[in-house]
Amino acid sequence: MVVERFLKMGTARSRIREQFEYGMAQAAIVGKENVYDFSIGNPSVPTPAAVAETVKELLAMDPIALHGYTPAGGCAEARESIAADLTKRTGDQIRPENIFFTCGAAPAMTACMQALAVENAEFMLLAPYFSEYPAYAASTGAKCVVVPADTEHFQVHVDEVEKRITRNTQAVIVNSPNNPSGVVYSVETLQALAEVLTRKSEEIGHPIYILSDEPYRELVYDGLDAAYVPAIYPNTVICYSYSKILSMPGERIGYICVPDRCADSANLYAAIAGAARALGHVCAPSLWQRVVARNTELRPDLATYDRNRVTLYEELTKLGFRCVKPQGAFYMMVAAPDGNSEDFTQRAKALNILGVPCDGFGCPGFVRFSTCVSHDMILRSLPAFRKLAASYGL
Ligand code: PLP
Repeated sequence: MVVERFLKMGTARSRIREQFEYGMAQAAIVGKENVYDFSIGNPSVPTPAAVAETVKELLAMDPIALHGYTPAGGCAEARESIAADLTKRTGDQIRPENIFFTCGAAPAMTACMQALAVENAEFMLLAPYFSEYPAYAASTGAKCVVVPADTEHFQVHVDEVEKRITRNTQAVIVNSPNNPSGVVYSVETLQALAEVLTRKSEEIGHPIYILSDEPYRELVYDGLDAAYVPAIYPNTVICYSYSKILSMPGERIGYICVPDRCADSANLYAAIAGAARALGHVCAPSLWQRVVARNTELRPDLATYDRNRVTLYEELTKLGFRCVKPQGAFYMMVAAPDGNSEDFTQRAKALNILGVPCDGFGCPGFVRFSTCVSHDMILRSLPAFRKLAASYGL
């Protein structure tokens, strides 16, 4: 016998993967240059050369020390470096003891959820939300409560958050810059959310945490900055990842930061470490802890992603599509002209344009297109988008 909900999760195909695999099969039939695959969020700019150089330097180290187990939360060098960098950038006093290295944001989020999943726990998801959150929560047994999207500005319906808070609410998941909308939450939005969470935490007698999922933190355009959430709401835990920022999602490296200002921070950190252990975490890859620790100044190639973002947004808007203007990350949501995202996805697919309906992101009526693609592919796809627009009479 197996656990039914895990069986379902293991056999259900993700829409993103399904479209991606279809794209590869279709490329073999019609030619790679005639398929416009906007389905997946795999970084399209090369990993910075400094990463390979650091790997080379590290490989000259004593191999036993380099490849051995590190402490569960990470080796001293790596935790010290990340803590110093965060302190410098945010002005918050972050200590190495606040940092716990993980194999990326996915296990970071899962460990945090697990640590907070007391009996009847509820986690609040702000639509549109990353479609994997319900899967992360599935291992905890907690309930996910969805706050519907603000489909005008794609900020947060703070009133709707307030209405849904119960005494079981343990955390609100915040993801800014956002996947799938590309929107960066404004300071005003975060302040309004903080005000409600502070008031409600007092009312229900325990802190409601923010789990701030930040794999796109430095992927912001037009001179914007993603806010340091703990400065606005102290009861915030950060889950960070190098997957997108340094274009290395296959290497599995990221960290959790539980700042001292967070309520019950020492116990929360310890519970997260315990939850990670229960999930089979031993330590994050030793080599990659050291690589990121030595490269805290590296930033993604924003110009390439920005060009893609601007081109796709401008061209699709010109064709008459309603697009959510991304301010960060590398995704763009387009409204299905008749509100039917599934039909929009299928019509696009018939023209070899592959996107992902946002129903799985809690936001039906929209389709997500990833802009981490080649600029050339965007240009080649425009005649097909023109046909798609015409099919709606735009
Ligand atoms: N959170 C968000 C919002 C994401 O978009 C992703 C990956 O696409 C993840 C978490 C998981 O990232 P990682 O590769 O660090 O596990």
